[in-house]
Amino acid sequence: MESELARKNNVIWFNGLVSREDREKLNGHKGAVIWLTGLSASGKSTIAHHLEKMLYEKDCSTYVFDGDNVRHGLCGDLSFSAEDRSENIRRIGEMVKLFIDAGIIAITAFISPYRKDRERIRDLVGKERFFEIYVECPIEECARRDPKGIYEKVQQGLIKNFTGISAPYESPESPDLVIESHKEDSIEGAKRVITLIQQSKII
Ligand code: ADP
Repeated sequence: MESELARKNNVIWFNGLVSREDREKLNGHKGAVIWLTGLSASGKSTIAHHLEKMLYEKDCSTYVFDGDNVRHGLCGDLSFSAEDRSENIRRIGEMVKLFIDAGIIAITAFISPYRKDRERIRDLVGKERFFEIYVECPIEECARRDPKGIYEKVQQGLIKNFTGISAPYESPESPDLVIESHKEDSIEGAKRVITLIQQSKII
Protein backbone atom coordinates (compact mmCIF):
# COMPACT_ATOMS: atom_id res chain seq x y z
CA MET A 1 0.00 0.00 0.00
CA GLU A 2 1.29 3.46 -0.86
CA SER A 3 2.08 5.56 2.20
CA GLU A 4 0.13 8.76 2.71
CA LEU A 5 3.31 10.71 3.51
CA ALA A 6 5.08 9.36 0.44
CA ARG A 7 2.18 10.55 -1.70
CA LYS A 8 2.27 14.01 -0.12
CA ASN A 9 6.00 14.25 -0.75
CA ASN A 10 5.56 13.26 -4.39
CA VAL A 11 7.60 10.12 -3.87
CA ILE A 12 6.86 7.82 -6.80
CA TRP A 13 7.73 4.14 -6.95
CA PHE A 14 10.06 3.45 -9.87
CA ASN A 15 9.97 -0.07 -11.20
CA GLY A 16 13.34 -0.05 -12.95
CA LEU A 17 14.30 -1.59 -16.24
CA VAL A 18 14.77 -5.10 -14.88
CA SER A 19 11.67 -6.72 -13.40
CA ARG A 20 11.28 -9.21 -10.59
CA GLU A 21 10.40 -11.81 -13.23
CA ASP A 22 13.71 -11.09 -14.99
CA ARG A 23 15.64 -11.55 -11.76
CA GLU A 24 13.73 -14.71 -10.96
CA LYS A 25 14.57 -16.09 -14.37
CA LEU A 26 18.22 -15.36 -13.76
CA ASN A 27 18.09 -16.99 -10.31
CA GLY A 28 16.15 -20.01 -11.56
CA HIS A 29 13.55 -19.73 -8.78
CA LYS A 30 10.95 -17.32 -7.41
CA GLY A 31 11.38 -14.80 -4.63
CA ALA A 32 9.53 -15.68 -1.42
CA VAL A 33 9.71 -15.49 2.35
CA ILE A 34 9.86 -18.41 4.72
CA TRP A 35 8.50 -16.85 7.89
CA LEU A 36 9.46 -18.85 10.98
CA THR A 37 7.53 -17.95 14.11
CA GLY A 38 7.66 -19.37 17.62
CA LEU A 39 8.90 -18.84 21.16
CA SER A 40 12.45 -17.83 21.99
CA ALA A 41 14.68 -20.93 21.78
CA SER A 42 12.02 -22.91 19.93
CA GLY A 43 14.57 -23.44 17.14
CA LYS A 44 13.76 -20.81 14.50
CA SER A 45 17.31 -19.69 13.95
CA THR A 46 18.74 -23.22 13.88
CA ILE A 47 16.15 -24.34 11.34
CA ALA A 48 16.61 -21.13 9.30
CA HIS A 49 20.33 -21.74 8.87
CA HIS A 50 19.92 -25.42 7.98
CA LEU A 51 17.31 -24.40 5.46
CA GLU A 52 19.57 -21.75 3.97
CA LYS A 53 22.41 -24.26 3.60
CA MET A 54 20.11 -26.73 1.83
CA LEU A 55 18.84 -24.05 -0.52
CA TYR A 56 22.36 -22.80 -1.18
CA GLU A 57 23.28 -26.33 -2.21
CA LYS A 58 20.39 -26.18 -4.67
CA ASP A 59 21.88 -22.97 -6.16
CA CYS A 60 19.19 -20.74 -4.68
CA SER A 61 19.75 -17.12 -3.68
CA THR A 62 18.84 -16.75 -0.03
CA TYR A 63 19.22 -14.55 2.99
CA VAL A 64 18.50 -15.22 6.66
CA PHE A 65 17.13 -12.40 8.79
CA ASP A 66 17.75 -13.13 12.41
CA GLY A 67 15.97 -11.42 15.29
CA ASP A 68 18.98 -10.25 17.24
CA ASN A 69 20.95 -9.05 14.20
CA VAL A 70 18.14 -6.81 12.96
CA ARG A 71 17.76 -5.27 16.40
CA HIS A 72 21.39 -4.11 16.30
CA GLY A 73 20.85 -1.91 13.26
CA LEU A 74 17.60 -1.31 11.40
CA CYS A 75 15.48 -1.75 14.54
CA GLY A 76 18.08 -0.73 17.10
CA ASP A 77 15.83 2.07 18.35
CA LEU A 78 12.96 -0.26 19.28
CA SER A 79 12.08 -1.80 22.64
CA PHE A 80 10.08 -4.94 23.40
CA SER A 81 6.85 -3.09 24.16
CA ALA A 82 3.80 -4.31 22.22
CA GLU A 83 3.89 -1.23 20.00
CA ASP A 84 7.61 -1.50 19.22
CA ARG A 85 7.35 -5.23 18.53
CA SER A 86 4.73 -4.46 15.89
CA GLU A 87 6.92 -1.72 14.41
CA ASN A 88 9.87 -4.14 14.40
CA ILE A 89 7.88 -6.66 12.35
CA ARG A 90 6.49 -3.96 10.07
CA ARG A 91 9.98 -2.77 9.14
CA ILE A 92 11.18 -6.34 8.60
CA GLY A 93 8.17 -6.93 6.37
CA GLU A 94 9.03 -3.94 4.20
CA MET A 95 12.62 -5.15 3.96
CA VAL A 96 11.55 -8.68 3.08
CA LYS A 97 9.30 -7.28 0.36
CA LEU A 98 12.34 -5.69 -1.29
CA PHE A 99 14.27 -8.95 -1.05
CA ILE A 100 11.40 -10.78 -2.71
CA ASP A 101 11.43 -8.15 -5.43
CA ALA A 102 15.15 -8.92 -5.81
CA GLY A 103 14.13 -12.55 -6.48
CA ILE A 104 15.61 -13.86 -3.25
CA ILE A 105 14.25 -16.47 -0.85
CA ALA A 106 14.25 -14.64 2.48
CA ILE A 107 14.17 -16.74 5.64
CA THR A 108 13.15 -14.92 8.79
CA ALA A 109 13.64 -16.04 12.38
CA PHE A 110 11.60 -13.69 14.55
CA ILE A 111 9.33 -14.56 17.44
CA SER A 112 6.73 -12.30 15.76
CA PRO A 113 4.20 -12.95 18.52
CA TYR A 114 1.20 -11.12 17.08
CA ARG A 115 -1.03 -12.78 14.53
CA LYS A 116 -2.13 -9.50 12.99
CA ASP A 117 1.50 -8.47 12.35
CA ARG A 118 2.21 -11.72 10.52
CA GLU A 119 -1.01 -11.39 8.55
CA ARG A 120 -0.01 -7.89 7.55
CA ILE A 121 3.23 -9.20 6.07
CA ARG A 122 1.32 -11.90 4.20
CA ASP A 123 -0.95 -9.22 2.73
CA LEU A 124 2.04 -7.01 1.92
CA VAL A 125 4.05 -9.60 0.00
CA GLY A 126 1.17 -11.72 -1.32
CA LYS A 127 0.04 -15.05 0.10
CA GLU A 128 1.57 -17.13 -2.71
CA ARG A 129 5.03 -15.91 -1.66
CA PHE A 130 4.57 -16.06 2.10
CA PHE A 131 5.10 -19.32 3.98
CA GLU A 132 4.26 -19.23 7.64
CA ILE A 133 6.12 -21.94 9.53
CA TYR A 134 5.18 -22.47 13.15
CA VAL A 135 8.16 -23.75 15.13
CA GLU A 136 6.29 -25.26 18.02
CA CYS A 137 7.95 -26.21 21.28
CA PRO A 138 6.66 -26.30 24.87
CA ILE A 139 7.99 -23.38 26.88
CA GLU A 140 9.45 -25.76 29.50
CA GLU A 141 11.64 -27.30 26.77
CA CYS A 142 12.63 -23.83 25.46
CA ALA A 143 13.63 -22.86 29.00
CA ARG A 144 15.62 -26.08 29.39
CA ARG A 145 17.54 -25.42 26.13
CA ASP A 146 18.05 -21.72 26.88
CA PRO A 147 20.93 -21.29 24.38
CA LYS A 148 21.34 -17.58 25.19
CA GLY A 149 20.71 -17.83 28.93
CA ILE A 150 17.69 -15.64 28.45
CA TYR A 151 15.15 -17.78 30.35
CA GLU A 152 17.56 -17.79 33.26
CA LYS A 153 17.50 -13.99 33.24
CA VAL A 154 13.70 -14.03 33.12
CA GLN A 155 13.71 -16.28 36.20
CA GLN A 156 15.90 -13.73 37.94
CA GLY A 157 13.39 -11.01 37.08
CA LEU A 158 15.85 -9.20 34.81
CA ILE A 159 13.69 -9.23 31.66
CA LYS A 160 10.20 -7.81 31.37
CA ASN A 161 7.64 -8.42 28.61
CA PHE A 162 9.07 -11.85 27.83
CA THR A 163 7.08 -13.79 25.23
CA GLY A 164 5.33 -16.85 26.61
CA ILE A 165 5.86 -15.76 30.22
CA SER A 166 4.95 -12.11 30.73
CA ALA A 167 3.96 -11.19 27.16
CA PRO A 168 1.60 -13.01 24.79
CA TYR A 169 2.41 -15.37 21.95
CA GLU A 170 -0.39 -15.84 19.45
CA SER A 171 0.18 -19.11 17.62
CA PRO A 172 -0.72 -19.27 13.91
CA GLU A 173 -4.26 -20.41 13.15
CA SER A 174 -3.48 -21.99 9.80
CA PRO A 175 0.28 -22.12 9.27
CA ASP A 176 1.67 -23.55 6.05
CA LEU A 177 3.72 -25.98 8.15
CA VAL A 178 4.24 -26.89 11.80
CA ILE A 179 7.64 -28.10 12.99
CA GLU A 180 7.43 -29.57 16.47
CA SER A 181 11.05 -29.03 17.39
CA HIS A 182 10.82 -31.12 20.57
CA LYS A 183 9.84 -34.11 18.44
CA GLU A 184 11.47 -33.49 15.10
CA ASP A 185 15.13 -33.01 14.21
CA SER A 186 15.92 -29.53 12.82
CA ILE A 187 17.28 -30.98 9.56
CA GLU A 188 14.10 -33.01 9.04
CA GLY A 189 12.05 -29.88 9.68
CA ALA A 190 14.09 -27.89 7.16
CA LYS A 191 13.66 -30.67 4.58
CA ARG A 192 9.89 -30.44 4.95
CA VAL A 193 10.08 -26.71 4.24
CA ILE A 194 12.00 -27.50 1.05
CA THR A 195 9.27 -29.94 0.00
CA LEU A 196 6.63 -27.30 0.70
CA ILE A 197 8.27 -24.66 -1.49
CA GLN A 198 8.92 -27.22 -4.21
CA GLN A 199 5.23 -28.14 -4.21
CA SER A 200 4.38 -24.43 -4.34
CA LYS A 201 6.69 -24.00 -7.35
CA ILE A 202 8.96 -21.46 -5.66
CA ILE A 203 11.95 -23.66 -6.49
P1 ADP B 1 15.23 -19.36 18.34
O1 ADP B 1 15.84 -18.82 17.09
O2 ADP B 1 13.83 -19.87 18.14
O3 ADP B 1 15.33 -18.44 19.52
P2 ADP B 1 17.52 -21.06 18.42
O4 ADP B 1 17.56 -21.77 17.11
O5 ADP B 1 18.43 -19.89 18.64
O6 ADP B 1 16.01 -20.67 18.75
O7 ADP B 1 17.82 -22.08 19.60
C1 ADP B 1 17.18 -23.32 19.67
C2 ADP B 1 18.05 -24.29 20.45
O8 ADP B 1 17.38 -25.55 20.47
C3 ADP B 1 19.39 -24.50 19.80
O9 ADP B 1 20.37 -24.62 20.80
C4 ADP B 1 19.18 -25.83 19.05
O10 ADP B 1 20.38 -26.55 18.87
C5 ADP B 1 18.21 -26.57 19.98
N1 ADP B 1 17.38 -27.57 19.33
C6 ADP B 1 17.20 -28.82 19.79
N2 ADP B 1 16.39 -29.53 19.00
C7 ADP B 1 16.05 -28.71 17.99
C8 ADP B 1 15.21 -28.87 16.85
N3 ADP B 1 14.61 -30.01 16.58
N4 ADP B 1 15.05 -27.83 16.02
C9 ADP B 1 15.68 -26.66 16.28
N5 ADP B 1 16.47 -26.44 17.35
C10 ADP B 1 16.66 -27.45 18.20
